[in-house]
Amino acid sequence: MNDALLRMPPPDNEPIYPYAPGGADKASLKAELERLGKGGFEVPLVIGGKEVRTGKTSPIIRPDDKATKLGVFHMAGAAEAAAAVEAALKARKDWARTPWEERAAIFRRVAELAAGKYRPLLVASTMLNQSKTAQQAEIDAACEAIDYFRVNPAFMEKIYEIQPASLRNEWNRSSYRPLEGFVYAVSPFNFTAIAANLASAPAMMGNVVVWKPSSTSVLSNWFLMKLYEEAGLPPGVINFLPGSGSAISGLVLERPELAGLHFTGSTAVFRGLWKGIAANLEKYKTYPRIVGETGGKNFIFVDPSADPEAALVAAIRGAYEYQGQKCSAASRIYVPASWGPGFLGKLAEAAKGLPMGPVTDFRNFLGAVIDEASFDSIMSYVERAKSSPKAKLLAGGKGDKSKGFFIEPTLIEALDPHYETMETELFGPVLTAYTYDDRDMEAAYRLVDSSSPYGLTGSVIARDRGAIVRASEALVDAAGNFYVNDKPTGAVVGRQPFGGARASGTNDKAGSLLNLLRWTSPRSVKENLEPPTDWRYPYMGEA
Ligand code: NAD
Repeated sequence: MNDALLRMPPPDNEPIYPYAPGGADKASLKAELERLGKGGFEVPLVIGGKEVRTGKTSPIIRPDDKATKLGVFHMAGAAEAAAAVEAALKARKDWARTPWEERAAIFRRVAELAAGKYRPLLVASTMLNQSKTAQQAEIDAACEAIDYFRVNPAFMEKIYEIQPASLRNEWNRSSYRPLEGFVYAVSPFNFTAIAANLASAPAMMGNVVVWKPSSTSVLSNWFLMKLYEEAGLPPGVINFLPGSGSAISGLVLERPELAGLHFTGSTAVFRGLWKGIAANLEKYKTYPRIVGETGGKNFIFVDPSADPEAALVAAIRGAYEYQGQKCSAASRIYVPASWGPGFLGKLAEAAKGLPMGPVTDFRNFLGAVIDEASFDSIMSYVERAKSSPKAKLLAGGKGDKSKGFFIEPTLIEALDPHYETMETELFGPVLTAYTYDDRDMEAAYRLVDSSSPYGLTGSVIARDRGAIVRASEALVDAAGNFYVNDKPTGAVVGRQPFGGARASGTNDKAGSLLNLLRWTSPRSVKENLEPPTDWRYPYMGEA
């Protein structure tokens, strides 16, 4: 029992390790890469705290060295999904009644383990499994993941603090119940930190979770599961179910106890899951909370007053870091006609100079795209652009999948602002530029706003304050995360709460109090301190 008003430490972001030449951080990361690179991992399911091996396995590969098998993972089917739901519901009895400060303590312990002894493991497995450079894996699997575990308890405290007013003779209280059932967390391949947040945010708020990781990030995600166990998360609170999304969802969405979906991934899969929930609506005990962060077609709008160097760096980092496989990656850039062709020439030269190769060679800026299906899909757009009269290839354009799934950082110039690569999410290292007529800025803003169904991230690069204000107003619905004089990627937990609207998702802002609010169902309690003893009202005293 805690007779105390407990406080979480104020939110604090994890510092980024540099992995510079000669550093101890680099040496321990290299050693871990060496160890993991030998492979041989056999990743099981975890249901109710027990490892389950189905015997139906799938390989875990390195996208930048596909001959190297890191191991295999066991795949869940409908029977294991059913078992995971049962295990979650069994764990719910105790977990939902565990005091919030105890739950917070477990996740704060997770944060410290991730910042300490697990750090090289999380970073190295994310590098190998998802083909991230050391820098990209560090800001994801270490810093962002740690931030969720460390910062969310402080937001949880803020939610529980919200209490209603009371008159002298009554006491009104809000208690914040977990949802009545279980939460289904479905995570994407591209961020180990997102996988961490999708399962842990509802769990922190007292919910039990069935978590389906992406098949192309199973190894790093499995180490998250080990981390939760080591930090003392009770069995069954988070159940780990790698496997086919459709087989698992088929079972999970039909369960009457489904109380929430916490999803990040593509718009098409999210819409499919939402439709699945709608089709089962009459079955549910409570209306499931649906939180989904999905695709984007993120823009950089270069104002005529912009610093060209700032625009160039925003474009290079925003479009090509992690091979353009961030949901927030810049994939279209608008350049003023009054600048002439010089800027795009410089951008093309910079793109051509970016080193690409295996992420274990720390000199590389880009690794490989995640898998063959992704490689083929991205290259089909690039090949079409090469022969289209509406597009010009300015840099890159070559792909090679002989050793790993490598695609050169590619710059396309669209001669038609509605050319397909200006409008469709490709999810690869491809940036498309369009030169707009800056004699009519309102038309240019309308073009940016209306060219894609998404509304995730966008940047305006400008020195003129009036231009910043005008762009910010004209593009108010075009991006849930709007950047001024910066790249549109790299949101930090607690500092730039993340998410977009339109076809990009429900905009429930991962890394903020708003997201945690979705995982609680408040109960209002009124206690009357002076209960009436006469049912008659005073007005009834005379006719
Ligand atoms: P994806 O949609 O292919 O897969 C996401 C998850 O859904 C995976 O675990 C996958 O196995 C699962 N899945 C697929 N079909 C399913 C089904 N029928 N039922 C249940 N689960 C199913 O996405 P991805 O390739 O892993 O990630 C890339 C996409 O994610 C891009 O569109 C990107 O923009 C988006 N994304 C968005 C954000 C954001 O915050 N808005 C962040 C990261 C990624």
